[in-house]
Amino acid sequence: MESLNSWLTSHQLMDRFNCFSDLKDLPLIMHRIQTVLKKYWGFESLRPLQHEAIQAALSGRDSLVVLPTGGGKSLCFQAPAVALDGTTLVISPLIALMKDQVDALTQCGVPAGRLDSSQDWNERRATLEQLRNGALKLLYVSPERLLSDGFAEILRELRPAMIAVDEAHCISMWGHDFRPEYTQLSRLREIFSGLPIHAFTATATDHVRQDIIRQLQLRDPEVLIGSFHRPNLHYSVQHKSDPVRQIKELIDRRPGESGIIYCIRRKDVDELTERLVRLGYKAAPYHAGMEAEARKRSQTDFIEDRVQIIVATVAFGMGIDKPNVRFVIHSGLPKSIEHYQQETGRAGRDGLLAECRLLWQSRDAATWRFIIEQSHEDLEVRRIALDKLRDMENFASGVTCRHSSLIGYFGETLDGDNCSACDICHGELEIMVESKQAAQKILSCVVRLKEMFGADYTCKVLIGSNDERIRQNGHDALSTYGLLADQPYRQVRDWTEQLIVQDYLAKTGEYNQLSVTSKGWLLLRDETNETPKLSKPVTRKTRAEKRKAVDQRDWSGVDRGLYKELRRLCKEIAEIKRIPPYMVFGDAALRDMARRRPATLDNFIQITGVGERKLKQYGKDFTEVIRKYCRNNSLDTNLSFDAGLDDDRSHHELQIVPDDGAWSIEKLKRQVDSLQPQAPPANNRRGAKWTKEEDENVRAMFYDGLPPKEIANKFGRSRGAIRSRLIKLGLVDPDESL
Ligand code: ADP
Repeated sequence: MESLNSWLTSHQLMDRFNCFSDLKDLPLIMHRIQTVLKKYWGFESLRPLQHEAIQAALSGRDSLVVLPTGGGKSLCFQAPAVALDGTTLVISPLIALMKDQVDALTQCGVPAGRLDSSQDWNERRATLEQLRNGALKLLYVSPERLLSDGFAEILRELRPAMIAVDEAHCISMWGHDFRPEYTQLSRLREIFSGLPIHAFTATATDHVRQDIIRQLQLRDPEVLIGSFHRPNLHYSVQHKSDPVRQIKELIDRRPGESGIIYCIRRKDVDELTERLVRLGYKAAPYHAGMEAEARKRSQTDFIEDRVQIIVATVAFGMGIDKPNVRFVIHSGLPKSIEHYQQETGRAGRDGLLAECRLLWQSRDAATWRFIIEQSHEDLEVRRIALDKLRDMENFASGVTCRHSSLIGYFGETLDGDNCSACDICHGELEIMVESKQAAQKILSCVVRLKEMFGADYTCKVLIGSNDERIRQNGHDALSTYGLLADQPYRQVRDWTEQLIVQDYLAKTGEYNQLSVTSKGWLLLRDETNETPKLSKPVTRKTRAEKRKAVDQRDWSGVDRGLYKELRRLCKEIAEIKRIPPYMVFGDAALRDMARRRPATLDNFIQITGVGERKLKQYGKDFTEVIRKYCRNNSLDTNLSFDAGLDDDRSHHELQIVPDDGAWSIEKLKRQVDSLQPQAPPANNRRGAKWTKEEDENVRAMFYDGLPPKEIANKFGRSRGAIRSRLIKLGLVDPDESL
């Protein structure tokens, strides 16, 4: 309450409000933010913590906002940026991220621009011009550019409204995405001494948070930490027995919906993509071993819905803001819970149901162990990496609520004891009452086989297989032969894996022979109270029924036929405008339209995700499709809408959107048809001396991952010249190919 009072009475930023300066009341100002929200984004309300974060931004106090991926961090600085006078600077680590956010803001009618190394001189000049004219509400810049000589000076003169540092964990060596360029941001405070700085991250560790505060020199920051619980994600874990079949089962339940499949190795990515393509799916690969151009193509095709599935290593993800990823499958064990949480967090950013499936086997952990031991010489670093891997294994083999385990890892507790959004709470796995007996049978068979055989062989003995090798070895005469004959082979094999992870069994030697651990011996001799927890899936039919119930969530009342039509229209518009379809309308908006079927513009604006700009641009086309579909299918239109708009929505005080008149898809098509191809810029600089600015830009483009060919084009130089320059700048080794 104290900070609230001082904010209301004395804060110098009050005079920055372009239309609220006479208001002395916080609730009223926040109410106006609500207007901004509806006008530009078409959102009805703020999500948890957005309210507090926006309040901190408006009050001019530094802040650190921690929200999980998909939590809605962008709005926390974008909405106040619209409400404040002047331009807000946003520092962002990746061109893809900047471009995505600027495009999305432009679609909503918020004037935003970016300055990055992928732009040519003309584009840059145009943005600087807009900046000088005060025409931009948000300017996205990379850290190198922001702090480059001269540029910081220009900005200082322009007196920006505030600074937002997105993906702030990149500043910390303890984070998972450390970017050396971010460390330069420690100079922000001295250059822009009076400006509030707001840092945003999804990083959950305290160490990184403290590092951000220290390095950015945040002054008495408001630290806001949101919940990492993502109730719209449905988690499930399965033993990887027949990965392609298991993956197919999930994809086939989600026809046409976007998804990411993570693999451990590049080779797995290539193989799985090929299999999926051969099976008729639209899939594309992504890993660091691919040419930069091919990688970029895969990414763009995925974002713009030309391919449905991206198969990738961990290299894929940062900078992907696609909100409608409906599933994330891990076809192998991730190396830490942090990675798993980040990667699965890319599903369902729009808040609608999305599925996260982990397929794994203990061999995955062995692969990671090998990689970790090869790649970390420092024993302490290695130990930490191995501990994290063990935590991940425990998560995967655990039989407690997945959500509870995940957020518990980050120090949070789940309310209630059933999340209803994971395989455990949803009853897709059954914990066996007779786990102890089954485990003892498996362990004793390993002993009878003198700990000389692998898991496959042991399990075959246990189910009493007629295998010739077993008979030749005389193992059909063992007392443990056929001890689990009432169970399918797959099940016994799964339990064996579960016993390995729970440390009752170990794989040893060159051929992964099974051996009983000391914990296993205690169990075998009945000298412990600890009991292994073995699980088995419920019947396929029950599982299918349960899945169906999950799949129906978020679809209640939605006419799927109309949804498809609206999605098709979205895609058509997006293709012409060369933006991803979700930037026209996201899934939540489309489903709301297909549920309530607005046939008039007055009702169309009441749909979640329809702001003024989109109403003007797309309202006519969408309501036309809705009317036609409903007429043809004898359906009622205009269901559950308010009779009239309230005052705030009908009086739009904030006139920052240029009024570009009525819009229609036909008009847009005509505009595109009339465009003439642009002549390539005459920027031939072959043989010219390199300037300091060029060096700086080459470096930035290289860090941004631009292919040398593209860099060469931008500089009007040959590829060879770029390569030599990169070597000279110490960015590439002379024997490294590009
Ligand atoms: P983050 O940066 O935290 O990962 P984003 O800012 O990309 O998350 O937001 C994730 C999704 O949620 C986006 O599609 C965004 O439009 C949507 N979103 C954010 N805030 C709201 C809100 N208040 N109401 C409805 N949707 C929202």
